[in-house]
Amino acid sequence: MMKYVYFFGNGDADGDESMRAELGGKGANLAQMAKAPLSLPVPAGFTITTDVCQKYYELDRKYPDGLSSQVDEYLAKLESVMGKKLGDESDPLLVSVRSGAAISMPGMMDTILNLGLNDKAVLGLAKKTGNERFAWDAYRRFIQMYGDVAMGVEHAKFEDIIDEVKSHRGIKQDTELTTEELKEIVTKYKAMYKKEKGSDFPQDAKEQMWGAIGAVFGSWMNPRAIKYRKLNNIKEGALKGTAVTVMAMVFGNKGETSGTGVCFSRDPSTGDNVFMGEYLMNAQGEDVVAGIRTPQKLAQLEETNKAIYDELCQIRDRLEKHYHDMQDMEFTVEEGKLYMLQCRNGKRTGAAAVKMAVDMVKEGLIDKETAIMRVEPEQLNQLLLPQLDKEAVKKATEIASGLNASPGAGCGQIVFTAEEAEEWAKNGKKVLLVRKETSPDDIAGMAVSQGILTSTGGRTSHAAVVARGMGTPCVCGCSDVAFKDAETVIIKGKTYKKGDFLTIDGATGLVYEGQVAVKPATISGDLETFLGWADEIREKSERVTESGNRVKGFDIYANGDTPQNAIDAFRFGAMGIGLCRTEHMFFDEPKLTDFQKMIISEDTESRKANLAKILPHQQKDFYEIIKTMEGRPVTIRLLDPPLNEFIQAETDEQLTALAKKLGVDKEKLSRKVMQLAEHNPMLGHRGCRLAITYPEIYEMQVEAIARATAQLEKESKKHNVLIMIPNVVSYNEVEQIRKQAEAVIDKVNKEKGVNLKFQIGSMIEFPRAALSAGKIAKYADFFSFGTNDLTQTTFGFSRDDYGKFIESYLQQRILEDDPFATLDYEGPGALMEIAEEKGRTVNANLHLGICGEHGGDPASIHICYQIGLNYVSCSPYRVPLARLAGAQAVIEYEKNNK
Ligand code: ADP
Ligand code: MG
Ligand code: MG
Repeated sequence: MMKYVYFFGNGDADGDESMRAELGGKGANLAQMAKAPLSLPVPAGFTITTDVCQKYYELDRKYPDGLSSQVDEYLAKLESVMGKKLGDESDPLLVSVRSGAAISMPGMMDTILNLGLNDKAVLGLAKKTGNERFAWDAYRRFIQMYGDVAMGVEHAKFEDIIDEVKSHRGIKQDTELTTEELKEIVTKYKAMYKKEKGSDFPQDAKEQMWGAIGAVFGSWMNPRAIKYRKLNNIKEGALKGTAVTVMAMVFGNKGETSGTGVCFSRDPSTGDNVFMGEYLMNAQGEDVVAGIRTPQKLAQLEETNKAIYDELCQIRDRLEKHYHDMQDMEFTVEEGKLYMLQCRNGKRTGAAAVKMAVDMVKEGLIDKETAIMRVEPEQLNQLLLPQLDKEAVKKATEIASGLNASPGAGCGQIVFTAEEAEEWAKNGKKVLLVRKETSPDDIAGMAVSQGILTSTGGRTSHAAVVARGMGTPCVCGCSDVAFKDAETVIIKGKTYKKGDFLTIDGATGLVYEGQVAVKPATISGDLETFLGWADEIREKSERVTESGNRVKGFDIYANGDTPQNAIDAFRFGAMGIGLCRTEHMFFDEPKLTDFQKMIISEDTESRKANLAKILPHQQKDFYEIIKTMEGRPVTIRLLDPPLNEFIQAETDEQLTALAKKLGVDKEKLSRKVMQLAEHNPMLGHRGCRLAITYPEIYEMQVEAIARATAQLEKESKKHNVLIMIPNVVSYNEVEQIRKQAEAVIDKVNKEKGVNLKFQIGSMIEFPRAALSAGKIAKYADFFSFGTNDLTQTTFGFSRDDYGKFIESYLQQRILEDDPFATLDYEGPGALMEIAEEKGRTVNANLHLGICGEHGGDPASIHICYQIGLNYVSCSPYRVPLARLAGAQAVIEYEKNNK
């Protein structure tokens, strides 16, 4: 019989931290904390494995055989350890029933506290503890949680009852409710429950327990958990499900010597090595996280209860040393005694992740490889988030301040519900979500907001945790924000309407009126150190490809078409430009007009005359880009798109205007436009096919490149330019275009008295090119894989049309990933391997890279490393991420090939 249930407590445990997959993160860590060597004060309990969850769904929401007897056995053990029985009327054992998957999904699934109470047990509990108020508070919480989570009675129906009692008395806080009022609330809850469900609130403790277990397993498939997994790229089926932990309750709601809190061993928003957290006295469970009352800072606990504070500090140190990572911990104090209820590696912002990784290496807690693996590449985007412009801030009007919960600057039109945020964002508006507090139902709206501002809740509130995970700027607990009605908030006496602009700075917690200018971040300090380590790892890396070739190093280049792109690429640490698209240069005036005139030319002579006018402009662009890169490789791609992209005249007015601009007859132009139109331009007259029919286009471009380089040479400036031919399908194209290019280069060399040589290479973006790569390699100094087109032509999916069906393919798991987002190893990846083998057999020094969109995707970068590419090239803003992902690919490869 399979073991489905694992016990912990009493100084020992059946499981441990290595069993995350089976026990979930929460269950595994509770076991680890409970047993030696940590031996922390953890209330006893047992965990039902994720296997049961998987089976529960396979069996159409039924439990596997043998579960119920195992649960009975461990419940009996729990009762004997605790010396109390579940459902006992004079001294009842109360338990919590908690969820927890292998990957933490904060607040996404359900937990039920104080289970085991009923009309009689509540009296026993009151008598036994001598604390009547506490007993009735526990009971009303239980009815509410169980009614809502397990029985589906709307949360608001309970809240309405409490609110009514509170407003009748004129009080604000739950803690001010008297015992009599709590009793009244329980009576009203039960009546409401009966009306809603048609039966009495369940009194049998065992029945309650199984109801709660079912609710937790059921919550694995609730819409917000599904949405959370989707937003976090956790594939359905990647996890077995949630585990369920049943454990003895400890009570933070027993009065002023009790309380509950959440703490972090380091600051999750900045990464600073300071112990921080929040707690509430006389409170239970979710009270801190729910943002109902604004909690106190952990530092205050040092003043009010030094013994507990010191004990927590010790636990913090021991847990960090044990897990070698920042810990997020839940604790409860019951009448002066501390209990640990959860620990996990804490979620953190990108900035904090980098700082902690660097600090922990310096502290000797982890090595550089571990540090590199600690940071998710996508998290680096947060560090490259725009910051408020310092000068603009000086002039801005600061209107309020709250807690700096998630860094970055956010500016947008204010909206007050998640639904509005979604709707406005869909219409292209930038929104700032302003809420009292957020709940798990708000995540979709939070995801589309520029920033989140809440009036209650602390740094551990739902809004803060989720915002940090999403990399969205967040200021929370900003009590100056008062909600007037659905359209209005009042901040320090001033009215702001829905749609007004506000700006928040999540790094400082400040709120500004209107729109404050933001500016891009730079790479410095810890980030620079960290990425430096990533560069080292890639530089000294070595691997053997599938074809048996030994390849050293793995560089990151950037795609950049303009001098500004080159500046950004250089700033973000690109080792070169892997793709400089020249067509973008033709879209700017005055080049566009001359280029259009060239396109409609009737003969070679006038084509050449028009191209000659563009040459000096192209030369200037090339000069700037090459100069900016200070001798690093700059790969310039000759013209790629079909000519019809440059002549767009869909309506009669457009045609008239264009004819006027170009000074030609409208009828003639109209005929030309018709000639140029193609049924499938993607597979039409484009790329090097243009140079086969009109060699003068590439000749002009090569001349501009050669002249720009000659100019730099004369100025004694560094340069390293490569010329790349797109859309190749046959070596004959490369041979012929290469010959023409070399003739032009010779001419410029002679004229300028220099001796320039350029590497000339080929894009590999169609299956035929990959399959005949051996022949192409005779004429090409390098290959650059254009994986967008390679994916289109390998799959036969048009990138402009596949949106119609890709969702169904992913949902039905016909494909695991969107092949345009993540390189498909079996299709285009296999062709790349063929090209690698054939190409390097002919030319052992053949340099290989990728310049498609995939170059900035971490999973694709891993595949590129595996295939044996010398570099990946991606957009400038993805370069830092690619530097990291590339190093992670090296570390993973080495781990797998030891
Ligand atoms: P989540 O995954 O949403 O954090 P948890 O299972 O951790 O849910 O529980 C929610 C809250 O209830 C937490 O604050 C936790 O500390 C508290 N809690 C859970 N079990 C117990 C218990 N046995 N005694 C006291 N508090 C508990
Ligand atoms: Mg928790
Ligand atoms: Mg292409």
